[in-house]
Amino acid sequence: MQMNPRGARLSTALCGALVAALLASCGGVDPIEAPALRSGSADFSRLAFIGEDVESPDTVNPSLWRQGQLCASGGLFQVTDRLYQVRNLDVSNLTIIEGDTGLIVVDPLISAETAKAAMELYFEHRPEKPVIAVIHSHSHVDHYGGVKGVVDEADVEAGKVRIIAPEGFLEAAAAENVLVGNAMTRRAMFQFGGLLAPDEKGTVGVGLGIGVSLGTVTLIPPTDTITETGQKMVIDGLTFEFMLTPDTEAPAEMHWYIEELKAVTAAENCVHTLHNTYPIRGAQIRDPGAWSHYLNESIDRWGAKSEVMYGMHHWPVWGAERVHEMLSKGRDAYRYINDQTLRLANHGHTPVEIAELVEFPDSLASHWALREYYGTVNHNVKSTYVKYLGWYDGNPATLHGLPPEDAAKNYVEFMGGAAAVLEKAKESFERGEYRWVAEVVNHVVFADPANAEARELEAAALEQMGYQTESSTWRNAFLTAAQELRIGTLSLPFKGTASADSIRALDLSMLLNFWAVRLNGPRADGHELTLNLVLTDTRQEVVLRLSNSTLSHSLERTDPTASATITTTREALNRMAADESTAEAEIEAGEITGDPDASGLLELVGMMDEFDLWFNVIEP
Ligand SMILES: [Zn+2]
Repeated sequence: MQMNPRGARLSTALCGALVAALLASCGGVDPIEAPALRSGSADFSRLAFIGEDVESPDTVNPSLWRQGQLCASGGLFQVTDRLYQVRNLDVSNLTIIEGDTGLIVVDPLISAETAKAAMELYFEHRPEKPVIAVIHSHSHVDHYGGVKGVVDEADVEAGKVRIIAPEGFLEAAAAENVLVGNAMTRRAMFQFGGLLAPDEKGTVGVGLGIGVSLGTVTLIPPTDTITETGQKMVIDGLTFEFMLTPDTEAPAEMHWYIEELKAVTAAENCVHTLHNTYPIRGAQIRDPGAWSHYLNESIDRWGAKSEVMYGMHHWPVWGAERVHEMLSKGRDAYRYINDQTLRLANHGHTPVEIAELVEFPDSLASHWALREYYGTVNHNVKSTYVKYLGWYDGNPATLHGLPPEDAAKNYVEFMGGAAAVLEKAKESFERGEYRWVAEVVNHVVFADPANAEARELEAAALEQMGYQTESSTWRNAFLTAAQELRIGTLSLPFKGTASADSIRALDLSMLLNFWAVRLNGPRADGHELTLNLVLTDTRQEVVLRLSNSTLSHSLERTDPTASATITTTREALNRMAADESTAEAEIEAGEITGDPDASGLLELVGMMDEFDLWFNVIEP
């Protein structure tokens, strides 16, 4: 059953990061609006060119085009008795399960605005009942960010609404991308194509859906934590059995089965695309072995009795046979990636070689839900090598290579100069050897970024690679690179800071670790400093120690030899972390005081870097 879709404006971008906010002001070709609720109107126009009846154009891989068409099917859907999903108001699905007296909402999208619109759409067609519980399947932002569009925090605090999440959820959610947030945000522009126009020569979606919302990201700490597999919980008359799946698609994730509905979910570990064991925006590498293990455990626990499986992206499958097919093919795919990588590594092959050698057998490659719309076998294999053996391929010739710019200058000179390289590269281009053209001409660009002919030739090669690939994330990356080669690196006014709720949820240690990451080592050379930091609102004491160009801290203590005691509040630190104020401003306002003075803190802050989001990628 499909009902009328309506709600917020979508834009194309990402999944699984605080980078959700990123594109709010960096729309590039087509400025992207924050989601504006326009009651009664659907607005999927941004990707409307991917119509159900439109033939795939020459500039889009036909399989990716088809997936875009399927992703574009949005609205309110009944999955089974008492279980509904709103799809395509955001990159993820909002799932509503009807309890005996109220509603259980699963994974309330990225932003409060889209989650609210999803609930309004549901209430247009179903009885208006209170939300009595929210379940977060995992710690990525598209699965919790809209929680305040679904429930009031006051109702949670009053005990009227439970927030249920897997062990480690809050820490993982808050910490996602803090320490390298700037780098990931910039790299996410490539993965998610947020700077590209949405059209046949631009982005056609993100593989998990056609786009993400750009509204208010919120977070409410869980009231109930799932701490062990097999844990059962009766929620409003329905019996949930949970299974923890740590270190799979997210650091904290879980599957569950609802007995009365015979319905299973494997969260985001089994959706209609091969997933990323490493997203190209950059992230810690995920474990394909664990991923496979937990899909297998889901089959063992619930496979035989499940009549439907619904996911947190894409569409459900019905019937025990198809549920088993999805779970078992997923299980085997991630195991294949894990085991074949290690097998070939044991034969002495290096990452790039292994990535060329590993191909799914037909039985996996022909399964729709394992096509490479989001992750690819190629980059998942390389990541698995790195997970087990690290970045070094074992050949000492690569152990201490020259940095890209120096190597590029030498390559170009050794190859007879830029003109000679470009002449040969054009012949390669004519032969369709786009991968080689991109690789070799990249050297010309790194040797001389002002070489317009080189930039255009590399752009043309990457563009062809973008048009050919089945992977939306590769397509977005290749086409974004081509665009930057042609028009240069943009510099738009945007700060990639985390949402206020995320910063509040960070533990103090993580906040101070980020200070330490911002410390400019060379600038701090020769400085030594010990400060006691006292937070009056959270009643915390911590010693900050600057030594040997590093900043370390010791919680729950003070040091009598410290040069000063800085007294402030966690709220003040949060404002500084959100770039809403500075240490100077807080001192001026009396929110930070020092005994004997706060000069030590200013000295420390003065040694910290600010990060520029718009660093170069395709040129030095
Ligand atoms: Zn997701």
